[in-house]
Amino acid sequence: MTRLSINTPRLISEINQLATFSDAPAPAVTRILYSDQDQAARVWLRQRILDAGLTMREDALGNLFARLIGSDPTLPAVGTGSHIDAIPHSGKYDGVVGVLGGLEAIRALQEAGIKPKRSIELVMFTAEEPTRFGIGCLGSRAMAGTLKPAELLAMTDSDGANLDDLRKGAGFTQSLDTVQLSPETYSSFIELHIEQGPRLERDKLQIGIVTSIAAPATLRVVLHGDGGHAGATLMPGRRDALVAASEIVQDVERAAHESGSPDAVATVGLLQVHPGAVNSIPSKVTLEIDIRDTRLDSRDGMVDRVLAKIEEVCERRKIGRDVEVLNRDDPCQSGPHIIKAAESVTQELGYSYKKLVSRAYHDTLFMAQLCPTAMIFVPSENGYSHRPEEYTTDEEIARGVEVLALTMAKLANE
Ligand SMILES: [Zn+2]
Repeated sequence: MTRLSINTPRLISEINQLATFSDAPAPAVTRILYSDQDQAARVWLRQRILDAGLTMREDALGNLFARLIGSDPTLPAVGTGSHIDAIPHSGKYDGVVGVLGGLEAIRALQEAGIKPKRSIELVMFTAEEPTRFGIGCLGSRAMAGTLKPAELLAMTDSDGANLDDLRKGAGFTQSLDTVQLSPETYSSFIELHIEQGPRLERDKLQIGIVTSIAAPATLRVVLHGDGGHAGATLMPGRRDALVAASEIVQDVERAAHESGSPDAVATVGLLQVHPGAVNSIPSKVTLEIDIRDTRLDSRDGMVDRVLAKIEEVCERRKIGRDVEVLNRDDPCQSGPHIIKAAESVTQELGYSYKKLVSRAYHDTLFMAQLCPTAMIFVPSENGYSHRPEEYTTDEEIARGVEVLALTMAKLANE
């Protein structure tokens, strides 16, 4: 097998340059969709892509595609990529390693004189993080067709600004009908990402090959009780929205414990109490509930149990409720032939590895609705992610890029 030379100093310097486009002081990174810093980062990235001689296009949401044309451009391409948006006060590697590492992988193939049969395409997905519009993987959901143009048109951010106005203001003015991709676009898709967990570091392994991505579901529940003076309103007949919420919170935890599945997790990560004063009975409470499992039946079992509990508690306590299922996505299993290709490349390179499940979800979860997919993980120091201390060594990133490049070269010649 041809060894590739990965230009690690170039890649690391680009990761550091991209981190300077941030609304938070270094080492923290904050880069929100369609913000000035996001726009400036996109200008910078386009130049790197043009310098590499790739063919570039951007869609109506700002998803960016950079293609190395293969010797048979009529064949479905091999795709790779990730995101460059960053939640407030996070680090510089989440997503970025898959975008700039994907670019470096393509450049390494070019510089080694490898001419793939299929085209190889780098994708920079718009807004993998839910920061601005409350839904993760905005760009890839729309590309897969699970988020329709009508739903995109109805979306607003927390300041009430409309997605359609914002994306047009950012220069993405085409019709939203053009975002969804045909299943003929890619023959396979493989995303390089930091692990964001401790397993590879703990086992002293260099590479993780993802065999499946857990199925996430998100619920938003608004409970409407009756407020009043905490001293003057006696206990009989109270309709306290927070006490109802507390029963639900307890049941969310029990749902995961009692599911019988080792991968089941359930979390209430957000609880807003209105009016939020010590001498006022809570009249309105908003909860956001995150439920995940690698098995769809188990995940759905937890969701159904929590929904039933909400009804039971609200009936008993005479609490009004608005329940919204924000997303309820399927898990994805990686394509066996992509796993095999990545595994044999990793073995030939002599890198230590394991196969693992991704408990966080990524754009690959939605690309899996278009074509077979897989992911390659590189270790995260202390498992840290979504914080400024996020760190992966230069060598570990370079190894991930080398595995990605040679796996794509293999897949592109099938
Ligand atoms: Zn990410």
